[in-house]
Amino acid sequence: MKKHNFSAGPCILPQEVLVKASEALINFDGLDLSLIEISHRSPNFVAVIEKARHLVLELLNLEGKGYQVLFLQGGASSQFLLSAYNLMKDQNGKAAYLNTGTWSSKAIKEAKLFGELAEVASSKDKNFNYIPKDYIIPSDVDYFHTTSNNTIYGTQMHSFPEFNGINVCDMSSDIFSRSLDFSKFDLIYAGAQKNMGPAGTTLVVVKESILGNTGRTIPSMLDYQVHIAKDSMFNTPPVFAVYTSMLTLEWLKDLGGIKAIEKINNQKAQLLYQEIDRNPLFTGVSATEDRSKMNATFTLNNESHSDLFDTIWEEAGINGLNGHRSVGGYRASMYNALTIESVEVLVNCMQELERKA
Ligand code: PMP
Repeated sequence: MKKHNFSAGPCILPQEVLVKASEALINFDGLDLSLIEISHRSPNFVAVIEKARHLVLELLNLEGKGYQVLFLQGGASSQFLLSAYNLMKDQNGKAAYLNTGTWSSKAIKEAKLFGELAEVASSKDKNFNYIPKDYIIPSDVDYFHTTSNNTIYGTQMHSFPEFNGINVCDMSSDIFSRSLDFSKFDLIYAGAQKNMGPAGTTLVVVKESILGNTGRTIPSMLDYQVHIAKDSMFNTPPVFAVYTSMLTLEWLKDLGGIKAIEKINNQKAQLLYQEIDRNPLFTGVSATEDRSKMNATFTLNNESHSDLFDTIWEEAGINGLNGHRSVGGYRASMYNALTIESVEVLVNCMQELERKA
């Protein structure tokens, strides 16, 4: 029996996607060839990447609004620098960043290589367990960068400030999980390995009109416009990661899209947070109003219960519940493909601990 996979990423993917992806590894499209041994320029693969790009726009409700979709490599970490390289002006470049954790801090570090940086607010004072509010974004910046969901700390931005300039967002750990007005963002990027597919490709959704205005010469592989001009095939794309992402996007569309999955994600989060708040043995880590619906972080009130709790959840077939080393405790990642039944199993484990401890 498959484990209840609460891993933070790479993480659970829909079982039917894994089955289809594994079949394509042996015989793709009835070609009697593997997906990973045919040319990426073959009509069969071109159809895959085109479908994937189209599904992204359709699911995010961005069709016909001037956006382009790219499947790049180098992880979301490469986007920390590509976003700055492509958007920060060569002369007197300046950008604003909201610092909500490790990943924001890494994005800030890269952007500093390209120009002046305004950190509008930070929640570092409390180990990033909340989302700062009431800060001022300077009006003269080239763009404003946020991280929508903070995978490590279990916080999520439930609202975004109104900023009239260019809005950039790292949505690596909550893309396709909730309804947002995605047209408020000019550049969205996300590593595939949470809600979209396997590690190996990074989704970039960019409003074309914001590009080409920096006065910089950008190396080809780092230039969004170069990738756009080649329909995301400037060089060999990560074919397996793109194909599996396409299958996951198809799965999501068949399920009813983001609205449908959001309903399920809300139920999962509510079920688990209710138990964290009810059970006298546990405490939630992040500020209640900023809790993430993707990654729930919590600790035991009494460390001496940890061996018993670990035994209980491991015996129940749960995987990947340990918290990130910088937070400790536990982290239950409830990405799109995780079922409510898996969350029920975890809640039962927490209740079993209460009875036995
Ligand atoms: N941003 C966020 C919010 C993440 O959770 C992660 C990885 N977990 C990254 C960026 C870095 O992604 P990658 O490993 O694909 O470079």
